[in-house]
Amino acid sequence: MSLSIHDHDRRKSGLTYVYAVLGRRAGGVSVGVNLNTNSACNWRCVYCEIPDLKFGNAPDCDLQLLERELRGMLIDILRGDWMQKNVPEERWRVLKDVSISGNGEPTSCPQFPEVVALIGRVLREFDEARDTQIVLITNGSLIHKPEVQRGLRTLHELAGVVWFKLDSATEEGTARLNNARAGLARTRTNVELAARACTTWLQTMVLAWKGEPPSDAESDAYVRFVRELVSAGVPLKGVHMYGPARESYQPEAAHISEVPRAWLDAFAARVEAAGLPVRLSP
Ligand code: SF4
Repeated sequence: MSLSIHDHDRRKSGLTYVYAVLGRRAGGVSVGVNLNTNSACNWRCVYCEIPDLKFGNAPDCDLQLLERELRGMLIDILRGDWMQKNVPEERWRVLKDVSISGNGEPTSCPQFPEVVALIGRVLREFDEARDTQIVLITNGSLIHKPEVQRGLRTLHELAGVVWFKLDSATEEGTARLNNARAGLARTRTNVELAARACTTWLQTMVLAWKGEPPSDAESDAYVRFVRELVSAGVPLKGVHMYGPARESYQPEAAHISEVPRAWLDAFAARVEAAGLPVRLSP
């Protein structure tokens, strides 16, 4: 069976921690490391694609098992016929990244820094993975924790990248979209901490809620937030902006749809004018 860009079902790998996806944002095959084997997250985004999502943190990680699974998956992909069997088109047959991303917030794993180091160590065993990047996909809410900072320093040494979720720059928007209430000041601090530790992109889901695109107040607040970060010299790389291409498993799923393309283009242009390049994956 071939992978498609809509196929992100982590249960299909049959492994505990490691899975492979064909990522539209990565532009090729991505090996994912899911540390939230309990499907627990400290947020509950309305568009979250995780069935049976629970509130909580990632459990302790069995580092030996993770190492075995990751090495085995990389051998299959880079030295076996996994690509031919699973990836439909030649142009997608490249291992773009190993992403730390799963069924919940990965930085809540108690062994997060050790996991980053482990991935770097295993990747170094493969000459074929010279250009494979490590990507941390995070909601950013725990970046201020010393252990997470330690993991980010290691990620930086490995030339890795952070994708920091920012769907709204208002308290109301964050509460409605992410069910998160730590406050914008915390988000602002954590964005800066991430960007100063490691190459960091914002990742922003743009969706219509009950058929309406984000209000003027919402989009203005987002643009202001970006402009302030840029003028404060926070070294962000840009914004990955994307829409709800995959099915939400949350009760609000019926309220979510894509914004019109023209709206998205106009919003992206405003964010670019505020000083950050935008990569659109609607
Ligand atoms: S932060 Fe990610 S894993 Fe957590 S609820 Fe949101 S989309 Fe799901």
